[in-house]
Amino acid sequence: MSDKSAFHPLLPNEEERYKPISADLTCRKCGKKSKVQLRACVNVSLHPEEKEQILNGSFFKFTCPDCGEQVSIMYPCLYDDMSLALMVYLLPDDTEDALEKMNAQQDKWSPEMLKAAMVCTMRAVRNTNELCEKIKIFDNGLDDRYIELTKAFVFSQFAKQNPDIKVLQVLYERKDGKDGFVIITKDEKTLFAEIPEGLYDEIIRLFKDVIPKKKTEYELIDAGWTMKILESRNPNAVKDAPQSEE
Ligand SMILES: [Zn+2]
Repeated sequence: MSDKSAFHPLLPNEEERYKPISADLTCRKCGKKSKVQLRACVNVSLHPEEKEQILNGSFFKFTCPDCGEQVSIMYPCLYDDMSLALMVYLLPDDTEDALEKMNAQQDKWSPEMLKAAMVCTMRAVRNTNELCEKIKIFDNGLDDRYIELTKAFVFSQFAKQNPDIKVLQVLYERKDGKDGFVIITKDEKTLFAEIPEGLYDEIIRLFKDVIPKKKTEYELIDAGWTMKILESRNPNAVKDAPQSEE
């Protein structure tokens, strides 16, 4: 895995990277004001424990020192895994706009960052669930573009079989050694739909010549992206694609 990391750039230097952002927080329960230090970047190659904190949900939570109330804090944060040459930008507010602005600043990127953009997989996500999903996909050696396309097929099958279930979110997960999707329903139930044997490889075979080449900018690879791919390939496929309500 280290061959890719040799090319990795290292965006800002280590000090800049960890320069914390100060923020004021008022506890919604007891009203106590606290100063919190937020981190704009997470380099999990240097700090693997922080990947665990992201996956278990504690990284983006703050605990009030007075009353113990836990609050989620969402802010733009770059997840950087050098060993996988993977950068995922969490952009929780107005994601599309923020993404556009970020990519428009390319002329201001450092030479290292531009070099990084040539070799790294660069993604944007809207929330921590999506961030965790990307981490799991790439940790398991899969490609999120084919996983999103696979998701569309698995979900359309699921929706046909369960027309009455209202779905909120569908997220990749590996469970008991099987790749599949966690389906979160509107009434807060969690179901698991396994990827049928061979489907992922079949999807790669079908779409490898269709999906756009890697860009040197952050990309949203999500249900909307999948829809465009399916539409371009076969306008009729759209009606079979997932219609989750996000
Ligand atoms: Zn409090």
